[in-house]
Amino acid sequence: MKNETTLTEVEVAGDAKKMTSGTVSQKIAIVTGAGSGIGRAVAERLAAEGAVVHLVDLNADSLAETSRRIGGVAGTHVLDVRDADGWDALLDEVMATHGRLDVLANCAGIQLTRGLLETSIEDFRQVMGVNAESVFLGTRAAVRAMLPAGQGSIINIASNFANIADGLNTAYCASKAAVAHFTKAAALDCAQRGTRIRVNSIHPGCIATPMLEREIEDVAARRGDPDTSAVRAEWDALAPLGIGTAEEIAWTALHLASDHSTYTTGAEFVVDGGHIIR
Ligand code: NAP
Repeated sequence: MKNETTLTEVEVAGDAKKMTSGTVSQKIAIVTGAGSGIGRAVAERLAAEGAVVHLVDLNADSLAETSRRIGGVAGTHVLDVRDADGWDALLDEVMATHGRLDVLANCAGIQLTRGLLETSIEDFRQVMGVNAESVFLGTRAAVRAMLPAGQGSIINIASNFANIADGLNTAYCASKAAVAHFTKAAALDCAQRGTRIRVNSIHPGCIATPMLEREIEDVAARRGDPDTSAVRAEWDALAPLGIGTAEEIAWTALHLASDHSTYTTGAEFVVDGGHIIR
């Protein structure tokens, strides 16, 4: 079937009229980690393109700030993404309100910049819990909700550290590789059930968010240098295109959420300014 796409003029809160393809218009979406960085940018982009967005994060104030920036959203939900019962309650609420779920973007995550010998088992479990277990829980809950319609898009934010190793990020690398491979297995399962539920991962490089800022400050402090500019310059030099923005990740998430990617599943989208090809 031919997929007709037309550009439509829409009102965007607090902004002039913008052109949008309308490909996520009225889609019901959940975005985790929506209080900051990439999750906030993804939520803003989806909402600007007409999606009905539910925001999830740990912190009510940061959720309220994202909602304010968007100009109102369908719901804000304080949820620790490691909480299986919390996921079930969230999906029950979304399904009771809208009758369906079209998009889940798993963006919540934490980073621990530690080498192998500095990483305790508690550290490792925490990073795996927030970054990888949460993606399993969210994907499973979303697929259950999407099964009646037999379609939907799940977008898991991994990292280019799923593809290249970094000795300073041992637990983090493990968690992101887990997300990437889990994504492929989940995509296969959904396809083999005869559904059009698609599951894909995005692999950002260095992106200017509070997470990256904390990492730069942490590394500079451990080098005993209060000035972060040397570390920042090193990080900027990692990719030929330098440090990217959360909005640049959000455009890829929009593509995967939209009907422009209906034949894409189990795929890795590396969005890292050329870091991994160096
Ligand atoms: P960020 O600015 O720190 O945002 C992460 C968000 O996740 C925060 O709002 C945080 O809430 C939330 N969060 C943390 N633990 C949570 C939990 N247990 N339950 C619910 N929410 C939780 O980081 P970011 O840079 O946007 O990162 C977003 C995703 O991109 C992460 O998965 C990260 O690993 C990935 N990534 C980032 C980069 C980068 O360079 N920035 C590169 C590759 C991949 P609080 O702030 O309230 O704790």
